[in-house]
Formats: sequence, C-alpha cells, structure tokens
Amino acid sequence: MKRRLTATLALLTTLFTALSAPADTAKPIAIAVHGGAGTMRKDQLDEALEQRITAKLREATEAGHARLAAGASAVDAVVAAIAILEASPLFNAGVGAVYTWDGTHELDASIMTGDTRAAGAVAGVRTIASPIHAARAVMEHSPHVLLSGTGAEAFAQSQGLKMVANSHFDTPERLEALQRAKARAEADKHGTVGAVALDAQGNLAAGTSTGGMTGKRWGRVGDSPIIGAGTFADNASCAVSATGHGEYFIRYNVAADICARVAYKGLSIEAAGHEVIQQTLLPAGGTGGVIILDAAGNISMPFNTEGMYRAAIDPSGKRFVGIYR
Ligand code: ASP
Repeated sequence: MKRRLTATLALLTTLFTALSAPADTAKPIAIAVHGGAGTMRKDQLDEALEQRITAKLREATEAGHARLAAGASAVDAVVAAIAILEASPLFNAGVGAVYTWDGTHELDASIMTGDTRAAGAVAGVRTIASPIHAARAVMEHSPHVLLSGTGAEAFAQSQGLKMVANSHFDTPERLEALQRAKARAEADKHGTVGAVALDAQGNLAAGTSTGGMTGKRWGRVGDSPIIGAGTFADNASCAVSATGHGEYFIRYNVAADICARVAYKGLSIEAAGHEVIQQTLLPAGGTGGVIILDAAGNISMPFNTEGMYRAAIDPSGKRFVGIYR
C-alpha cells in the first residue's frame, strides 16, 4: 500500500514538473545581415539609392526571420536571406558581382553550421547563379568543404542548381567601377553580403557571398569562401560573417578569432568583436566589419570603416537597419 502511494506521488511530481516547464516556444530566434562595409560617405550617397539598399536589407532580414519563426533551421534562414541579396544588383554578390581585371566575374561563397561545424564553400565560380546555394550543396552533399572553379561548377550542375552565362552578372555600375579601378590601378573593395542566424533549436549558422574585389587578377580568392576568415559558426561561441579587405581577414583569421576569444577568454561577442576589428585589424591596416550572433541571441555588428550596410531582428522582435555609425 505504502509503496503504491509513493509511486503515485512520484508520478504526480513528474507530471507537475513537465507541465510547469517553460514551453519550447520561449527559445530565442534572431538574425542579422550585412551588405558590405566601406567608405560610403553620407554626403555622397543619394537618398533614393540609400532607401533601395535599406529596403533590400530589410527584405532579406524579414525573409530569414520568417523562416526561423516557422521553425526552419538557421542554415535555411541564412540561405534565404543571402539569396535575396545575391539576386539584387545593389550588392557585390550574385547579379551585382564586381568585374575582374579581365572583365569577367568570379564569385565566392561559404556557409557553416554551429551544431556540427559542418561547412561548405565555392571559390572562383563563373556560371553558378546563386553561389550560396552551391556552398550549401557542398556542405550537405559532398565529402568536401571547399570546391573551386570549373570543378565547383560541374558539382553545382550535378546538384541541379541554376547555371547561367558569365554575362548574367554584367551591370553598367560595376563596369564603371572597373574602369575607375583600372585608371587608379587599384582595386575597390566593398559590397559583399552575409547573414548569421539562430534557430529555435538553439543552432547558429553563418554564410557569406561575394564577387570579391574589383579588378582582381590571377584567380585571386578573398576571405569570403575561407572558413575561419570570412565565415565561422560554433554553437559554443558564436556565428560570424565578415566583409572588408579579404587579404587582412585571411591573415588575421578574423571570424574564427572572434569566436575563439568568446570561447577561451569568456568575452562577450561585443568585446571580442571590438578587440579584433578595432584593436587588431585596424592598426594592421585591415578595413571592414563583421556581424556576430551568439546562442543567447545577442547581436553585435562592429566595423572600422565609415559605414557598413546592416540589418537585424533580435530575440524580442526589435528591428534595426543602418548604414553609418
Ligand atoms: N571580403 C571580400 C573579399 O575580399 C570583399 C568585401 O567584403 O567587400 O573578397
């Protein structure tokens, strides 16, 4: 009798604990996107263009957030947001990709998921309409992390991804930028896109897509498809997508270094981002910025240039979009 009473009590306690536990829906979701950092000057940017850019950033952020709210993965949200920016000529990624020295386009992209640290990337691709989709396919359907050039294109085609002629990426604005760059014999370096997301399962993801730097030569590849430099995600620390002068971001392993400072020094993402972007990269001559997100939904978007196109939706649903400091 006594034993049965004890068992009943134990059952009731279990039931009560289960019912009073917080609902799963209380888990935070969040997203941030960027559309490149650089020397955009308030007095030079025309207002209509500024509005088109911020509207696109908002659209990308909302699209990713809607996926998260519907229970989709952080990887889904990152791809959805980046695909919208790739399809816009306003950014240096996808259809707005800059020109190489030879007057063609070579695109780079990468993605990483924070739960398993699986990653995928493509570099120097000329005929893949959406490089971020190709990066995801490399992560999910190949045993590799980084595919380049014609091999990456053959793989993308075998995956049924949309292939296009290289002229698909031609725009008059970017051609003019190449001519300007050639006249100065130096490369312009801004406009990459990226996203970081936190899903309701508590997983982080980060992705980046770019046309690289105007006037690049000799198969130059920047930081955007390099895991640890332009993109990094680990649930234990943070998710980062970078934009800026890629050579510096590679040498300083920027995305991974920020997350390592969070993991090993116990820093907040804000402090870790500050140390790397302002105190390490800037004195070395590296210009640019990053978007950072942690598993609690904290967002930080530091940059050491005059501006960085960026937008975010935090766990409370608060929306932010900005260009300048
Ligand atoms: N990081 C890119 C690259 O070096 C360019 C950019 O972000 O604007 O290829």
